[in-house]
Amino acid sequence: MSDWMFLFVVVTAVIVGADASSLGAGQYKLGGWADTTPLVWGLGTALLWIIVFPAYLITRPKLVAAKAAVPVEEAAATRKCAVCDQVYDAQYDGCPHCAKANA
Ligand SMILES: [Zn+2]
Repeated sequence: MSDWMFLFVVVTAVIVGADASSLGAGQYKLGGWADTTPLVWGLGTALLWIIVFPAYLITRPKLVAAKAAVPVEEAAATRKCAVCDQVYDAQYDGCPHCAKANA
């Protein structure tokens, strides 16, 4: 393998690993390739570029969609009390800070 090809593979592996990490790869339980962790994506790209890199390109839209779906759930996980302005866990029926029932 020539030097530029080696460099290309290493750079691609780093980009894939970083991109998979930013997309939260491996956290969504989507099944198959989509559950691969960022570390495995990066190492796999470095060692088996011809297989893993195309697989990542095919899988990436699933990760983008999964990541896009997550912030909605996170936003719903907390509420802000209208009375005391404290943020609290949405599992409570009312604000635990001032004990006023959440309407
Ligand atoms: Zn309150």
